Amino acid sequence: MPTLFEKIITGELPANIIYRDPRVIAFLDIRPAAPVHILIVPTKAIPTADEIEDEDESLIGHMFIVARDIARQQGIAKSGYRLIVNCNPDSGQEVYHLHMHLIGGRPLGPLVPRF
Ligand code: 5GP
Repeated sequence: MPTLFEKIITGELPANIIYRDPRVIAFLDIRPAAPVHILIVPTKAIPTADEIEDEDESLIGHMFIVARDIARQQGIAKSGYRLIVNCNPDSGQEVYHLHMHLIGGRPLGPLVPRF
């Protein structure tokens, strides 16, 4: 079964796409956690960070370059932002197609709530 994000990549599902190239697509998160909340998604269907392969090294680097450029375009490069990749159930990963959250536009608080 294709994931939601595969359907966005193929155009079967709509999304607010802000960037696209052959390797990566970026679109607005449907439930934003901050004024800027963008998902950076490889077009290759890698389910989780645990399934990244050695041959994906340049793709993963490219995701960071795209995140950097989008953060600059969004005007949050200097104020700051957070890049998050959830992996598997303890992280709360909902969509099993690798993606990087780019979140910013307000102070984000601690990385993970402390017990
Ligand atoms: P995860 O928890 O897997 O790291 O993040 C999945 C993200 O995808 C969530 O932040 C959620 O709001 C977002 N999301 C889920 N379904 C859709 C959708 O149909 N469209 C968009 N644009 N974002 C979605």
